[in-house]
Amino acid sequence: MASVTFEKATRIYPGTTRPAVDQVELTVNDGEFLVLVGPSGCGKTTTLRMLAGLEEVNEGRILIGDRDVTQVPPKDRDIAMVFQNYALYPHMTVAENMGFALKIAGVKKAERAERVLEAAKLLDLEPYLDRKPKALSGGQRQRVAMGRAIVRKPAVFLMDEPLSNLDAKLRVATRTQIASLQRRLGVTTVYVTHDQVEAMTMGDRVAVLKDGLLQQVDTPRALYERPANVFVAGFIGSPAMNLMTLKITGGVVKFGNINLKIDAAVLAKTKEKAITAGLRPEDLVITKNEGIEVEVDVIEELGADAFLYGSAVVDGEKIDVIARIGSVSSLRSGDKVFLKPQGGITHLFDVTTGLRLNNDAPATAKKAAATKPATAAAVSAAGAVSAVAAKPAAKKAVAKPAAKPAAKKVAAKPAAKAAVAKPAVAKPAAKKTK
Ligand code: ATP
Repeated sequence: MASVTFEKATRIYPGTTRPAVDQVELTVNDGEFLVLVGPSGCGKTTTLRMLAGLEEVNEGRILIGDRDVTQVPPKDRDIAMVFQNYALYPHMTVAENMGFALKIAGVKKAERAERVLEAAKLLDLEPYLDRKPKALSGGQRQRVAMGRAIVRKPAVFLMDEPLSNLDAKLRVATRTQIASLQRRLGVTTVYVTHDQVEAMTMGDRVAVLKDGLLQQVDTPRALYERPANVFVAGFIGSPAMNLMTLKITGGVVKFGNINLKIDAAVLAKTKEKAITAGLRPEDLVITKNEGIEVEVDVIEELGADAFLYGSAVVDGEKIDVIARIGSVSSLRSGDKVFLKPQGGITHLFDVTTGLRLNNDAPATAKKAAATKPATAAAVSAAGAVSAVAAKPAAKKAVAKPAAKPAAKKVAAKPAAKAAVAKPAVAKPAAKKTK
């Protein structure tokens, strides 16, 4: 096993001028499950392929453990990759597919069979070892692709959207299995996804990328509670955070018919006359007549939770608003309610730079800075890694939700590294608690 370090790693594709991956500084700790997440085209796959040796590194370097692998061919990097397209050999059985890389590497037949069986047990694939891929379900094929990586006992697993060919229900089940399996095996893993719910539920830490620039690297909890900039604030969380621009007058902003005081320390950090305020749906409460008046568009009932989607006029601008409300609600489309933050405004950002202005040094990052290797410490302590060319504050609350909020988890340490005896796939991932 090994750590992975990107040192100012940059990729500029031939014929382009803007780096697809720009000076990425990131350390993945030994045994850690790190998820790279971001919107389409942000450079996730390129970053992973640079680590795999499939993409040239134009500046900077990449280390696996203490070894500089920047110029090392892929086959000598001690990594195993699981792709979105499982690319199983159709004419080979499950066992042959899983053992193929070992055969090429000259591993003896008996040892191959033993390692394939061990992985098959872990993945609940034992009954299918003699089947061909066409006689398997999508989920089983996905597990064969995982098995092919596991049998190699690599130092690092690289996974590029390995769940995207599965239907929604199977995705949820499989992500739990992969996270659980990774913790049992304790193999350092870099996992790429564009799905922030997947990122939040699977990763020990999550690295958020935008336009090739690393925005923030932190635990799911810290990303949710203290996004380093407006982009991360809008990207992480489902339904998305409400973001709005509020004018500052005499140290106070107007939130509908109430005034909210902005901390002097926050005001000292911005030269602007307005601020981007971020309120998660759960930060808002319905009041009798205080706060902003919201016209209900839709009430989304999710069983345990319900969300109100509506619109309001704030500082003369019409904005979309999302609030979590009690699951039993008589509200209907067209109704009017008042909403206000139940505490103060939880997230405050500079309207121009998009950088966080309040609580900008998360407790977790400080702790990480004290305990992690230099590069990771620099990343975590800084919160936002690169100066972010964040968009001007979004006037509208960001996108509509795709799924329920990410299950609240805190990075559990990888399970005992050697504990691979029991089948992992049947069990849900160790529940993470705050
Ligand atoms: P997605 O989620 O859509 O797969 P991604 O975050 O993985 O996106 P990359 O595939 O890493 O993004 O691409 C990053 C940027 O590099 C994009 O702007 C893309 O157009 C560009 N890019 C990728 N491959 C090449 C290439 N071979 N030549 C030129 N540009 C490329």
